[in-house]
Amino acid sequence: MPRVHQAIPASRPTGAGALPWSETIMSGTQREWHDTVAARISGYLARRRELEADDRYHLLTPIDGPTNHRVRSRGRDLVMLGSYSYLGLIGHPRIDAAAAAAVAEWGTGAGGVRLLTGHTTLHERLEARLARFAGREDAVLYSSGYVTNVAVLSALAGPGDLVLMDKLDHASIVDGALLCGARWRTWRHGDLGHLERLLREARGKYGAVLVVADSVFSMDGDLLDLPCSAALCREHGARLVVDEAHSIGAVGHAGHGIEEHFGMEGAIDVKIGTLSKAIPSVGGYVAGDAGLVGYLRHYSRPFIFSAALPPPQAAAALEALDVIEAEPWRVRRAHENAERLRRGLQAQGWDTGGSTTCVIPVLVGDDAKAFDLARELFARGLFVCPIGHPAVPKGQARLRLTVMATHTAEELDFALEAIGEAGAALGLLRREAAGA
Ligand code: PMP
Repeated sequence: MPRVHQAIPASRPTGAGALPWSETIMSGTQREWHDTVAARISGYLARRRELEADDRYHLLTPIDGPTNHRVRSRGRDLVMLGSYSYLGLIGHPRIDAAAAAAVAEWGTGAGGVRLLTGHTTLHERLEARLARFAGREDAVLYSSGYVTNVAVLSALAGPGDLVLMDKLDHASIVDGALLCGARWRTWRHGDLGHLERLLREARGKYGAVLVVADSVFSMDGDLLDLPCSAALCREHGARLVVDEAHSIGAVGHAGHGIEEHFGMEGAIDVKIGTLSKAIPSVGGYVAGDAGLVGYLRHYSRPFIFSAALPPPQAAAALEALDVIEAEPWRVRRAHENAERLRRGLQAQGWDTGGSTTCVIPVLVGDDAKAFDLARELFARGLFVCPIGHPAVPKGQARLRLTVMATHTAEELDFALEAIGEAGAALGLLRREAAGA
C-alpha cells in the first residue's frame, strides 16, 4: 500500500495557518498525496470508478452549443443554473460580430508576448476601456483571471512581505501567495475582527502588507465587507487587493462592481477582474493607477513570458463592455432573478447561507447528498453544479446555483419546482415545505 498523506505534501511552502480549499484535483473528491505518480493516478482512478458506480460523477458534462439560460447536453434541453455568464451575453450578436470582424482583421493569434511582438492597438483600446469601466487611470491584460492573480501577487509581494487572505479566497489567490515567497496568513471567512488582529500583529514586522479578497465569494455568493476592509487597510498601512471576478458586470446598479455597490469609488488599491464570466470572453486584468499598471507590465512574469490575449477575444471583451452599458436591463434583471430564486429556495426551507448576489448556494450537508441532488435535477431538466469537500469545508456540500439575466420567470419557477420535488424525494426537505 502506498503511504497516503492528507492534502499537502511536506515539501510545499507552509506559510501559516491551514491552507484554504485550493488543494483540489476533482472538485468534491478527497485529494490524497501518494508517493509515486503511478499511485497518484491509481488513487484518482479508484475514486472516479467509485463515484461513477454510484452515479455521482458530475464533472466534464459536455454541452452542445452556446451556454445561455438553456443548454443542450446529452441530447436534452436543460435550464442552465450553473454558468458564470451572469448577463447572458454568450452569443450576443454584437459581441459575436466584433469577434468575427477581429478574426478577419487581425487573425486568431497575437504571435508573441506583449512586450515584444504581441502588442496591438486592439489591446491598447481594450486596456483603456477596462480602465474607464473600472474607474481607474490604466489597466493591464493577462491571459486569464487565474494568471492575473498569480501575476499580481508574485509581482507585488516577496520574501519579507506579508499576504493576508480571507479563508475562502479563490485558489488563484492562494497559488499567487504560495508562489511569491511572502509569508501568508488567512483570516476566518468574513471575520474582519480577525483581519484587524492579524494587521495589528504584523505592524512593523514586514515590508509590504497585502490584504487580498474576493469581492463576491465564489462558493457562497456573499460580498466582501468593503467599507470595513478598506478602513482597516488605511489604518494599518496595508494595500487592498480585490478580485472582482464575480462582481464585474454583475454587482452594482450598472454592473461596475463592488465599489459601485457600496458607493465607495477609489476604495480598492488593486482591482483585479476576469473577462470570462459576465464578460463573455477569456482573459484577466488589473486596473489601478498608472504607476502600478506600468510596473506590472514590466515586472509581472505572466505578462513578460506568456503570449498576448488573442485579438478575437480582446475584441469580444471590448464590445461586451459597451453592451453592458447600453443594455442596463441585464444587470437589473440578473439582480431581480437572483432575488426571486433565493426567496423561493428559502421559502422551501433551504439554507442559502449569506448569499446576496447571483451566486446562490443550496447547502445540503455531506457530499453524497449534493451529488445525488444534482443527478435528480439533471433528470428533471436542470443543469446544476454540486460542490463538495475539499472545494468547501466538510459537511458543507452544496449546489452552487448561478442566476442569469436571461432566465425567464417561468424557468426560475420550473427550477424551484424541480428543486423542491427532488429535495423532498431525497429526504432533504419536508414534503409540505417543498411545494411552498
Ligand atoms: N477569481 C475568482 C474569484 C474566480 O472564481 C475565478 C474562476 N472561477 C478566477 C479568479 C479565475 O478566473 P478565470 O477563469 O478567468 O481564469
